Amino acid sequence: MVSGGKTRVTILGATGSIGASTLDLLRHGRDRFEVVALAAKRDARGLAALAREFGAQFAVLADASGYSELKEALAGERIEIAAGREGLLAAAQADTDVVVAAIAGAAGLEPTMAALRPRRRIALANKECLVSAGKLFMATARAKGAEVLPLDSEHNAVLQALAAGSRAAVEKVTLTASGGPFRLHAEERLAHVTPEEALKHPTWSMGAKITIDSATLMNKGLELVEAHHLFDLAPDRLEVLIHPQSVVHALVAFRDGSVVAGLSVPDMRIPIGVALSWPERLHWAAPALDLGSLKALTFEAPDLGRFPALRIAQAALAAGGAAPTVLNAANEVAVEAFLARRIGFPGIPALVESVLERAESRALKEPATVEEALAVDHIARSLAATLLLQFAAKAS
Ligand code: NAD
Ligand code: MG
Repeated sequence: MVSGGKTRVTILGATGSIGASTLDLLRHGRDRFEVVALAAKRDARGLAALAREFGAQFAVLADASGYSELKEALAGERIEIAAGREGLLAAAQADTDVVVAAIAGAAGLEPTMAALRPRRRIALANKECLVSAGKLFMATARAKGAEVLPLDSEHNAVLQALAAGSRAAVEKVTLTASGGPFRLHAEERLAHVTPEEALKHPTWSMGAKITIDSATLMNKGLELVEAHHLFDLAPDRLEVLIHPQSVVHALVAFRDGSVVAGLSVPDMRIPIGVALSWPERLHWAAPALDLGSLKALTFEAPDLGRFPALRIAQAALAAGGAAPTVLNAANEVAVEAFLARRIGFPGIPALVESVLERAESRALKEPATVEEALAVDHIARSLAATLLLQFAAKAS
């Protein structure tokens, strides 16, 4: 990105799945990249080991209680450390070229917003921040002169495919979904699936929250909202197809009948590399796609009956206003409740839909500031917590 010198990279969410993939890629390119700040929630030892390995200038834990452990783990090193909200915001604002925004959930909104700075690139993994406050986020990025490039594999493929034609000539954008581990399950079976089964994703290895979202198809719903904001596409130009092999990540159809698709093996290091180097291409030992060794690439329409989360997300996107913010917050509560075995798998979309219905009467406005986004998020979480008691009582 930076001609001559090394590209300076900060990673928010360094100890997670995207953080690990990013750092693995940086291991291949130590001559081109240097690490400025690394931030995580509470894994002090894990963060310290990464900060030491990559010679980071700054290591930060969002959870203030981890400060002394981090200090101890980095004793004798010339690495500045901090903990708590202020520290996280300082890490987001530290002088750097690229910020990899890879915190999971709406928790990423405030620090990712804080990272928006002139001439800075945000390699965005944290889709929840676009679902929660997409209009605000993109408008702030434009106003500040920050560049937002998607790291999510589908959107990263869209970014590349869009380069093949003019924006005005785009007819339709299709995001693919693997269909998750329950793609072939009959509806009755879905009521009995366990968190362990839901956490076994067929093609990708990711953090727990997004893995559950992939199993419900909520992830694809969140990604529709993400695509709407990233590429300024009307909801009716966005479509989802189930593609179990996860090789074709997205397709862009142009009005002349041409379709340009983005393909790769399902390995997040590939879209991360694109987001770090775009429009240049990184040269690294990337796993090659061998189409000849694959039996078939298949595509089918999603079943919104068995996977209502996608339908609910599409409705929230169409409704606009505060609905996507509510959807995101309710889904975070629902996923946690499922992982804690408080509700069953079908309880996830059911809870989210109930929260959206309840929230309707509150006439909540589309957030215009981070504070407003967090306030709507908070209301939705409270509604979800109340409804959860009823759901859990029914289930037991
Ligand atoms: P993960 O759970 O593996 O990691 C999350 C990271 O965020 C960890 O480093 C954790 O310490 C940090 N974190 C969590 N809460 C925090 C808080 N309150 N403050 C500061 N840091 C906090 O998640 P992941 O799978 O790496 O996903 C991260 C984001 O990337 C999510 O938004 C997800 O939707 C998106 N994404 C992930 C993948 C993937 O392959 N894993 C693909 C596409 C998009
Ligand atoms: Mg994705």
